[in-house]
Amino acid sequence: MIPLPRPWVIAAAAAFGAALGSFLNVVISRVPSGESVIRPPSRCPGCGRRLAWWENIPVAGYIALRGRCRTCRAPIGVRHLVVELAAAVAAGAAAWALTGADTAREAMING
Ligand SMILES: [Zn+2]
Repeated sequence: MIPLPRPWVIAAAAAFGAALGSFLNVVISRVPSGESVIRPPSRCPGCGRRLAWWENIPVAGYIALRGRCRTCRAPIGVRHLVVELAAAVAAGAAAWALTGADTAREAMING
């Protein structure tokens, strides 16, 4: 096992969770209407412009755009941010719980 500092592990887990949340948003947006979650690449539902790579960065992209398309100013549902943040917090919390201090971990293992 690679001994990484615990905050790094938690931060990495939260980032992974945010990415998972971002994909969940694609699933939420497309699956009900029978669209593919693979293609086409993300577009603004207002003007159809293909999103730049940085606009797809979970949480940070939404904040950078202030919740609106930068071309047509159509609002981006706050659901995108909420799902990404919730998944990030859930994954971060799981990492936090699973990488607890030795005494807590031993207490769980030893009952
Ligand atoms: Zn747009």
